[in-house]
Amino acid sequence: NADMAVYEAKTAGRATYHFYDGEMGKRFARNVRIETRLRQALQNDVLELHFQPKVDLLSERCVGMEALLRWNDEELGAVSPAEFVPIAEHTGIILALGDWVFEQAFRHILEWQEQGVQVPPIAINCSAAQLRRPDFLSKLLALLDQYKVDPSLLEIEVTESILIKDAEGCAELLRQISRLGIKLAIDDFGTGYSSLSYLKDLPFDYVKIDQVFIRDIIEDKNHAILTKAIIGLSHDLNLKVIAEGITNIEQLIYLQEFGCDIGQGYFFSKALGANSMSSDPMIVALNEQDDSID
Ligand code: C2E
Ligand code: MG
Ligand code: MG
Ligand code: MG
Repeated sequence: NADMAVYEAKTAGRATYHFYDGEMGKRFARNVRIETRLRQALQNDVLELHFQPKVDLLSERCVGMEALLRWNDEELGAVSPAEFVPIAEHTGIILALGDWVFEQAFRHILEWQEQGVQVPPIAINCSAAQLRRPDFLSKLLALLDQYKVDPSLLEIEVTESILIKDAEGCAELLRQISRLGIKLAIDDFGTGYSSLSYLKDLPFDYVKIDQVFIRDIIEDKNHAILTKAIIGLSHDLNLKVIAEGITNIEQLIYLQEFGCDIGQGYFFSKALGANSMSSDPMIVALNEQDDSID
């Protein structure tokens, strides 16, 4: 195998020699492997959705869950969506994968409701390629109709990069989604090159500040200043702010002080399997709260 790589590199010419010999070659091989196994995983239905709670920072109650893909491959072991989602995006698998995620999310909501669980809004991550499909809206409408899920139980998260590449193209679709009563969040905010002024004309409800800002909000004064500014500006634009990646109480206290609305992170909970929905303390608390109101 190594001989083959050297042979190929030599025949490809000197300039490319190092590409075949080192990390890049391994990276490439793994990506191809992930692509193959991912197609298989979709076909064999071995992917899963897990759900990470979102917590209201004033009441500290669960106000939603984010659906996150989980894949434990027979051969590759656990592969993170941070690794395989970009590959799915490059190879076009994201369309089938996205369809699977939407269908699963609807199915889980229906199942939980049948179990008597008080289901909080479920946020689904959506890649740009999915939103660019001409049939995105009709597929969504078909699912709403088939599963009889209340649109107010759904949120869609799209990353900030979509605003830069595709703001015009997406605006009308986003408005149509919003008109259905589905909430929209801009994900990983602060890492791209967009500005909050983009958001002014688009029907977003939430801004999710990227974890990199939260991670060293204590140590890095600039990140604290930026976080505070994003929260202030978002509020001026009538957007609620979600902080991602809260891992300790010090970060939480900062964010509460800055007026951040909602938080997510290992400090509260990791993403949970669908089955733990009826037993997880946060969801149980949500149900008890609603019972006491009735
Ligand atoms: P994201 O949407 O920004 O999701 C947040 C990521 O941060 C998740 O990683 C979550 O597990 C992780 N996280 C949450 N709290 C903490 C924390 O306190 N500390 C740290 N270090 N991490 C935390 P995950 O599940 O690996 O997903 C990575 C990315 O993959 C997601 O980022 C999203 O962009 C993408 N992704 C996941 N599921 C889907 C999906 O169903 N569809 C699409 N299109 N993309 C997805
Ligand atoms: Mg997200
Ligand atoms: Mg994010
Ligand atoms: Mg992310």
